[in-house]
Amino acid sequence: MLPTSCLVAILAALSVSSALTIPQPPKHHSTVSAAFHEIDINPHPFLRLSNSPSDVPESGVHEESFDVEELAEMDAHMKDYKGWDLDEMRLISIQRGDQMEEEFKWVTEYDKIILKTKGFKFMDITDAPTLGMANMLSPGGGAKKLYTYPQPSSNSSTHAYTTAHLYPKLSTDIMKANLIKFSGFRTRYYRSETGKQSQQWLLSKIKEYAQVNPHITIKEHPHSWGQNSIVARIPSAHAIKMKSSKNKDDGDKKKKTEKDSVVIIGAHQDSANMWPFLPAPGADDDGSGTTSILDAFRVLAASSYKPTHSAVEFHWYSAEEGGLLGSQAVAKVYEEDKVDVKGMIQMDMTAWVKKDTKEVIGVITDFVDPALTKFIAAAVHEYCDIPAVPTKCGYACSDHASWSKAGYQSAFSIESTFEDSNKAIHSSGDTIEHPEFSFDHMQQFSKLAIAFAVELGGLDVPKK
Ligand SMILES: [Zn+2]
Repeated sequence: MLPTSCLVAILAALSVSSALTIPQPPKHHSTVSAAFHEIDINPHPFLRLSNSPSDVPESGVHEESFDVEELAEMDAHMKDYKGWDLDEMRLISIQRGDQMEEEFKWVTEYDKIILKTKGFKFMDITDAPTLGMANMLSPGGGAKKLYTYPQPSSNSSTHAYTTAHLYPKLSTDIMKANLIKFSGFRTRYYRSETGKQSQQWLLSKIKEYAQVNPHITIKEHPHSWGQNSIVARIPSAHAIKMKSSKNKDDGDKKKKTEKDSVVIIGAHQDSANMWPFLPAPGADDDGSGTTSILDAFRVLAASSYKPTHSAVEFHWYSAEEGGLLGSQAVAKVYEEDKVDVKGMIQMDMTAWVKKDTKEVIGVITDFVDPALTKFIAAAVHEYCDIPAVPTKCGYACSDHASWSKAGYQSAFSIESTFEDSNKAIHSSGDTIEHPEFSFDHMQQFSKLAIAFAVELGGLDVPKK
């Protein structure tokens, strides 16, 4: 990372608002640093800290709801916990109040845990403090062009082929078997041993599905904490052709070095209990998104899908729960390599249909790209069996935020309106054992993922 003084200088040079002041890391700190006490933002609606009956989530007993005394007890427990260096200083960005401004603070790893229990959303920018700077500082104010998106139509040959030949191959049985396995790890917390094991299992599944298509490449994006992010790339037909003609023809070099644009479908593989040493099955958050996009990937691979315009990538990020760490690290490399990302969609929580509500797909409208979000709503209308509804999620809500920070266009779809989403997440109760947990609902997101791929990546409809 850059020294703090250097980052301050960059920000000063950009005459960023005075809200963007970066404090020096404190030399001495107590277990709960002063920085935490200064932050007062409305608590995240997911999480409850009072034990009054009205605060018990409807989805069941929330054994990890705490009052202040219990928090103090946990504080004592955490100090004894030998697993992690909880005093390590981290730089986070957080949104203050209803303002749009970001604020930067040095906090401890322990503070991050406490902030999460309080429902604060933040990005831990310690390892990628300058994400987005290169794009911002390039001539014209942005390295990449802004994309406009097609209007999906149910009368197109792409739509006809997708619904007739790709959708029937999706399988809730396969998805369910995968999610049972994936949520069976004690926790997929990114710094834990089982978090590493769950990543290795996911990697082996992705490789198994990719086997039928030799053009697909699978890469691990390594992280210092051990649970790696995973990138599966389906290259465009153009790239495959260029690669195969490479040795035969030295002709048009420009064409050969021309980089493919890429469309990205993402989910996060890690899970977290509010208290990282407690079990975190993470079936919905985000085992559901992980396995929804995994089934879309399986079907596209098995169908020998070759995108015509752009490569299609599936990303499974590590450490979303640590402050979007994995996705920032991946986005940083794409920014540095000047990768032309045409659009990114995040799927975080895809399974929950709250009792007595209509089944919908929530399309997040804050902190996202408006053009891509409009496209997502239209794609849901044409390609899914349930309607899209607009909803808001707040600052740094999931990994799409890393891509927009890097200067790319990103969007976010979720299981319902934010208000009707699963309240059992970040607890040992985030399992598939709820009447509201629906694999059919998850499959709507697999359909959306495929629609995103074929509409933006392009589809060469096979001739009969
Ligand atoms: Zn999540």
